[in-house]
This record gives sequence, structure tokens and C-alpha cells, in this order.
Amino acid sequence: MDFRLTEEQRMVKKMAKDFAEEEMIPFVAEWEEKNEIPMEFYDKMGKLGMLGGPIPEEYGGSGMDYVAYHLLIEEVARACSSVRTTVSVQTSLAETNLLLFGSEELKQKYLVRLAKGEMLGAWALTEPNAGSDVGGMQTIAREEDDGWVLNGSKMFISNGDIAGAVIVFARLPNTKRHDGICAFVVEKGTPGFSIGKVEIGTKLGLRTSHTAELIFEDCKVRKENLIGKPGDGWHMAMEVLNSGRLSVAAGAVGIARACLEASIKYAKERYAFGKPIGRFQMIKDKIAQMSTEVDAARLLVLRAAQKRDLGEDNTLEVSQAKLFSAQVVMRAADEAVQIHGGYGYSSEFPVERYFRDAKVCSIYEGTNEIQKLIIAGAVIGELD
Ligand SMILES: Cc1cc2nc3c(=O)[nH]c(=O)nc-3n(C[C@H](O)[C@H](O)[C@H](O)COP(=O)(O)OP(=O)(O)OC[C@H]3O[C@@H](n4cnc5c(N)ncnc54)[C@H](O)[C@@H]3O)c2cc1C
Repeated sequence: MDFRLTEEQRMVKKMAKDFAEEEMIPFVAEWEEKNEIPMEFYDKMGKLGMLGGPIPEEYGGSGMDYVAYHLLIEEVARACSSVRTTVSVQTSLAETNLLLFGSEELKQKYLVRLAKGEMLGAWALTEPNAGSDVGGMQTIAREEDDGWVLNGSKMFISNGDIAGAVIVFARLPNTKRHDGICAFVVEKGTPGFSIGKVEIGTKLGLRTSHTAELIFEDCKVRKENLIGKPGDGWHMAMEVLNSGRLSVAAGAVGIARACLEASIKYAKERYAFGKPIGRFQMIKDKIAQMSTEVDAARLLVLRAAQKRDLGEDNTLEVSQAKLFSAQVVMRAADEAVQIHGGYGYSSEFPVERYFRDAKVCSIYEGTNEIQKLIIAGAVIGELD
């Protein structure tokens, strides 16, 4: 097996690393303090093709392969997880949903603008009473002569209040569980679509990522904005989540790597008992463990990405990568704070933010428990 990156993959990784070091890392503390990332920042990312990485060039994207795209995600996450969340939701969820299932008209109207970064996108599946249990969704889509009418609400939607277009899942009246789920593109400003509570600066982590409640009250959507056919939504959501999960996994690797790098630096600088703490075996143990786990998590991510590049089903590999990297980042963040001692608990050092940002990797786009159900289902198979 050849573990070397191609020339193009190396170039994407370098471009993303340089961008993160010049345009992100120097500003993250200020963004966190103000609870805000200026929209011009995303314009800049869009112009560099960083908001449509794996989308084909004919639809406004950069046409990179999935290995390259997940290396880009790792670099972005190493600098700022809130930005990484926006990039993932934009690319791996909203754009991917349109690319895989949208009509040509929807692709031209929305995908091209999203991929070029001319507007932000969101992807709304979760509801106040239905997260892991997607089949429990209650938002209703009623067909009318000239379109659809949506009623219900969505919860915890990343980019929800700043997106120009949101992909919204809803079910046909009188349907249950996985039947009758549909997906629509709903534009910002559509009558009947309003924003509820927005969490920015108030969450445990991802303090500069917008997380919004979306409300639909007799919200009229034109019939062409239905993605695919009525009832396709369940299959669509699972396929798209598979794509989103891998970017969360790559994001977790990025945070874990940032923890490792910060720990190595600190272990060389901090003196205790007359020597750098990196000389103590228990500190070496932590760093060796972290380093090994970061590499192992990345290999799982890249294996799943490569399978996708080869056009093979990667559901099992994605869930393994998501589960493992979410566990690795929690351990890495814990040890990084520990290595920094009291300073690790202070916002003066970035490991405090890494610790807070790490947790959501084991919650969104399918919790660790849900990944274990998928993995067990695949490896155990049917039981009597
Ligand atoms: C910051 C943030 C951003 C988000 N962004 C988005 C977004 O952009 N779009 C979107 O649609 N959603 C988004 N979400 C929602 C996220 O995907 C859900 O929170 C997640 O899927 C879990 O759903 P829940 O919160 O309803 O938890 P629940 O489903 O209520 O789960 C509660 C607990 O029960 C466990 N559990 C549930 N079912 C089972 C089972 N069968 N077996 C074992 N354990 C189980 C879970 O693992 C969890 O530990 C976001 C969430 C956060 C926090």
C-alpha cells in the first residue's frame, strides 16, 4: 500500500496550512473574544476555493479529491473548529446534498453559488424532539397546487441564521418513521421562515460558530425546490450524513494535532524541578500516546476518503473514523490541558479552547453511540 500523498494532495494541504497560519491562527483569540468571525473572512475562503473543495469545477467547486479535501479540513480545524464546522456544513452537507440529489436547475441556482462561497449554506435535519432518532421528525410538508407548505422547527442548525439557503427535511402528512421524508431548499427571507434562538458565544465550545433554531410557519416553498422525489429524504439524509461525518472526523484529527503540537512546545519550555517537563517520563508517555493516536485517527480518515475517491461504499469506514477520532480528540485535549497544568485551564493558552471544542465531535452528525450501532450492524450482520 502506498501511503504517500499525490502532488495535488500535498499542494492542497500546504495551501490550507499556509492559509490557516496566516489568516486564521493570528485572529482566533480576537474572534473568540468578540464571539464573531467577520463575513469577509468567509468571502476570502470562497475566493480561494476553500468552500467547495470536492465539488466539480463545472459547479463552481475546486474539484479536489476526497483525500485532499479531508487534509484541508484537518488544517482548518487545527486552527479553528468553528470555521471548520462552517466549512464542513457548507461543503460536506449542503453542497454534497445538492450535488448527489439536486436537479440540474437546483445545482445551477444554489450549488454553484455555495461552492464559490458567494453564499453560506446550512443543512437542517435535527428537531427539538428528534436528533439521533431522525425518523421521529415532526416538521410537516404539505403539497399544494403550486408548491409545498412547511410547518415545524429545526434545532441546533449550524450557519442557520447566516445561510442564504438551507436544506430542510420534513415529512409528508400521515407518514411515519423513515417513510415520507422529503428535503427542500429554503431561501433566507422566504415568508414563514424565521430564526429562533441563536447560540453564539454561549455554547461549551465552537463559540464563534452560529447554531440556530429555525422556525417554519406556513412557509411556502416552490415545487422545484423539492430535492429528488417525495419520500427520498431518509436515504438522502443517511448518504449525506456519511459525507458530513468524515469531515467531523478530519476536524477531530485537526484539533487533536493542535493539542499534540501545543503540548510538545510547552513540554520544552516549561521548567519544573530544574528541567523541562518534557524530560519527565510521564509527560513523554502522554505525548507518545497522543502522537500515535493522532496518526491512527488520520489513517482511518484517509482510508475512508480514499474509498470514496474509488467510488466504493465507505459507511463502515466513516463511522469507524468518526468514532475513533472523536475519542482520540477527547483524550488528546484532556492530556494537553494536563501537560499545561494551571495554564492549561486559562484562556491565555489555546488548549483551553481545544478542550471545549473537542466535545462536540462525539455528538454532532451522529453521536458515538450511533456510530457504534452502525459499526456493530456492519460487522455483526443480521442476528436471529
Ligand atoms: C454545535 C452543534 C451543531 C449542530 N449542527 C447541526 C446541523 O447543522 N444540522 C443538524 O441537522 N443538526 C445539527 N446538530 C444536532 C446534532 O446532530 C444532534 O444534537 C445529535 O445528532 C444528537 O441528537 P440529540 O441532541 O437530539 O440527542 P439525542 O438523540 O436525544 O441523544 C441523547 C443521548 O442518547 C443517546 N442515544 C440516542 N439514541 C440511542 C440509541 N438508539 N442507542 C444508544 N444511545 C442512544 C445519544 O447517543 C446521546 O448520548 C448540531 C448540534 C450541535 C451541538
